[in-house]
Amino acid sequence: MGQALACARPNDEQDFFNAVQAGDLDFVASALRLQPWMICRTTVFDRLSSLHVAASNGQLEVLSMLLDRTLYPDLLNRHRQTPLMLAAMHGKIACVEKLLQSGANILMFDSLHGRTCLHYAAYYGHSDCLQAILSAALSTPVADSWGFARFVNVKDGRGATPLHLAARQRRPDCVHILLDKGALVSATTAGYGCPGSTALHLAAHRGCIDCVRELLAWGADRIQRDSAGRIPYVVALRRNHAACAALLNPSTAEPLVWPSPLKFISELNPEAKVLLETALMEANKEREKDILKGTSFSLPPPAHSDGSVDDDDISEANDTELCCICFDQVCTIEVQDCGHQMCAHCTLALCCHSKPNPTTLCTPVPVCPFCRSNIARLVVAKSKTKEEGGKDSNGSKLKKARKSRNFGEGSSNSFKSLSSAVGSFGRMGGRGSGRIADSGDIPDKS
Ligand SMILES: [Zn+2]
Ligand SMILES: [Zn+2]
Repeated sequence: MGQALACARPNDEQDFFNAVQAGDLDFVASALRLQPWMICRTTVFDRLSSLHVAASNGQLEVLSMLLDRTLYPDLLNRHRQTPLMLAAMHGKIACVEKLLQSGANILMFDSLHGRTCLHYAAYYGHSDCLQAILSAALSTPVADSWGFARFVNVKDGRGATPLHLAARQRRPDCVHILLDKGALVSATTAGYGCPGSTALHLAAHRGCIDCVRELLAWGADRIQRDSAGRIPYVVALRRNHAACAALLNPSTAEPLVWPSPLKFISELNPEAKVLLETALMEANKEREKDILKGTSFSLPPPAHSDGSVDDDDISEANDTELCCICFDQVCTIEVQDCGHQMCAHCTLALCCHSKPNPTTLCTPVPVCPFCRSNIARLVVAKSKTKEEGGKDSNGSKLKKARKSRNFGEGSSNSFKSLSSAVGSFGRMGGRGSGRIADSGDIPDKS
């Protein structure tokens, strides 16, 4: 056995790397027993270590065994890529998690484009890997030394953040996650005082309408110019992405933006947030239909804007409980602490409607439209109708009770103002198009 240790032939190395790649745990284990130094060997051309090969091929068992024998998970290949970068590139989530648990450094930069593992996950569109790395960033020393917000917006050698790469590579899921975690929607690839491209420019260039939609909903600026002086609309037009261009045309109605007052409501429940985001996207898609049809945008008037709720038939006729503001959508959001309920669309309208006070520039914290108490939390409303169905006669009693609760004490004024807010939900575009029309330097549609 001692002789076998003394003379490792190239063929042995080749067999060893083949076994790592194929996930042959027994072979790798016995090879390392006979020739322990094999773990330090790299492939000839790319200088890949066995860790790199196992990580990029998703061989979790082999990777775990190698990590048990290696003290350092951040070996570098020819391009200074770590095993974590390769696992993120190939979407091998189990290996990404294992490497993170083993203390792999998320703040290493390769020598190709100066990119981190977060750039790799965003570029290749592996949203699960992206999530895992972002979660790790909250708990690893990076959070202390660099700060989480800075890490989310880390730039590569050309000034691109992970958000830029996700938008450029048409990865709407990754765009969403990054924005949700604090990626700056207005970040540019610029450096040294020169203007650069925003993620919206790159999404426009690639014609990714889902990315454009996400970015606009997070407040991306349609009139920001890149280094060539172009707004995203012009970029989309030049590449013949007609649908994207239509949404990016600054003379069309502005899309709804995730309202900042929601940030002031403490403890926004994650499920409620998903409902609100869905409502926002639905509202924007409705608007898009009209933009894309080429017709002028109009929202149907609120169904019962006078707030007359005397007729009990409305909710009694339905199994599901309709929102008492729009009488159109199902109540999905509950305001706490007061317990009043409304639909996600009306909740959004309420928050979108709260404009900053012009003198103090403070955004008013939205209040419950029914009782005007402060909104401490928004949670998903528990559907009583589902649980009780029509079988239980208490069901209708409960509905009545809830309705009388919603329209109890002096609610008429605030209720009317919200009804008009729901109406103005659709009119917000007028503000923007007026501003654009005045500026005069925006290229025409034609
Ligand atoms: Zn509603
Ligand atoms: Zn209330």
